[in-house]
Amino acid sequence: MNLEELSKQFRRLPGVGPRTAEKMAYYWLTLEDDEAERFLRTLENFRRQITLCKRCHNLAVGSDLCNICQDNRRDKAIVVVETPQDVENIEQAGIYHGYYHVLHGLISPRKGVTPEQLFISDLFDRIVDEGITQVIIATSFTMEGDITADYLAKQLKTLQPNIPIYRLGTGLPVGGELNYADKATLRAAFITKQKVGEEND
Ligand SMILES: [Zn+2]
Repeated sequence: MNLEELSKQFRRLPGVGPRTAEKMAYYWLTLEDDEAERFLRTLENFRRQITLCKRCHNLAVGSDLCNICQDNRRDKAIVVVETPQDVENIEQAGIYHGYYHVLHGLISPRKGVTPEQLFISDLFDRIVDEGITQVIIATSFTMEGDITADYLAKQLKTLQPNIPIYRLGTGLPVGGELNYADKATLRAAFITKQKVGEEND
């Protein structure tokens, strides 16, 4: 084991380049033993206690269902997002009070990600089981986000023709990822949400 091997592990973290990874590896060397132990214990506990909600696939702590799915007073709506961070951002913006469905990725022909590899099929079951009255697709305004939104809208239109489907509005920058959006931008995106597939009716 040498410094380079540890740096390599840090480089796997999102947004960490070679220089930062090297700094992190050095930092790890300078930590007191008890500090390092606390850090490791936190990582371990996080892995042990956090699971994915069996209904919406958001993060759940010590339970089958996440906090949001456990709250039965929420609006009968579902916002479809790519990651649990998106759920967190939308909750923080305080503009939406329904449920979520986390895909854990986007359909991507370039990366070979198919709909079957994402949490998509159980979304359709949820709409019936939970009496959902509207679906809002909140994928990023990137090529993969568009492909995923189009796929979901087409499937939903076929399976649930009476449920209105929306996509977040132009409050988000083109090419922007949802998790980079600030609260004001997210609120604007919800206010300007567009009904999908109107022109085909
Ligand atoms: Zn949930």
